[in-house]
Amino acid sequence: MILSTMVNHSPSQEIILQGFKKNKHQYRQKLKFLKQKNPSNLDMLFLNAHEEVFKTFDCLDCARCCKFLGPRIIQRDILRLSKELKINSRDFILQYLRIDEDGDYVFKSMPCPFLMDDNCCMVYGKHPKACQDYPHTDSRKMKSRLNALLKDCEICPAAVIILDKILGEIL
Ligand code: SF4
Ligand code: SF4
Repeated sequence: MILSTMVNHSPSQEIILQGFKKNKHQYRQKLKFLKQKNPSNLDMLFLNAHEEVFKTFDCLDCARCCKFLGPRIIQRDILRLSKELKINSRDFILQYLRIDEDGDYVFKSMPCPFLMDDNCCMVYGKHPKACQDYPHTDSRKMKSRLNALLKDCEICPAAVIILDKILGEIL
């Protein structure tokens, strides 16, 4: 299913993302400082901020990750999704997947073929692990994820809000 890429995006989310892009250099500097500071409770701070932000943030107003990012699809995802779609794994791979430059399975095209017009996921509950975990701000390895987080903040407004909370608390 193809959606026009900028539909259903709330203006406030656009402003958050534009603010991040405009100030990316400062964010990079602050993250560098955060790494040097190396707070022992970093994962817990991120987890708390993640839970607080996603209590109110509605991903259905956004769906940018489903439109612009290709999740890595692992073998267990293939088995689960092909079962859900009642096709065999080989047909699932042929129909939906390609191998990317890192040798991983990803969707052949984006927006994701399972994204519906109302931004809902057609296979929600069975969706790939990478989708379930995105934007990874509740990871237990946030120190090693800070560079990736900087990239995710270009796509995910919730990640920007979470990062702002952390920087406000620590720096
Ligand atoms: S996880 Fe981030 S990018 Fe994906 S829909 Fe939610 S706010 Fe948007
Ligand atoms: S499988 Fe669902 S959650 Fe994952 S990218 Fe597609 S629509 Fe989004």
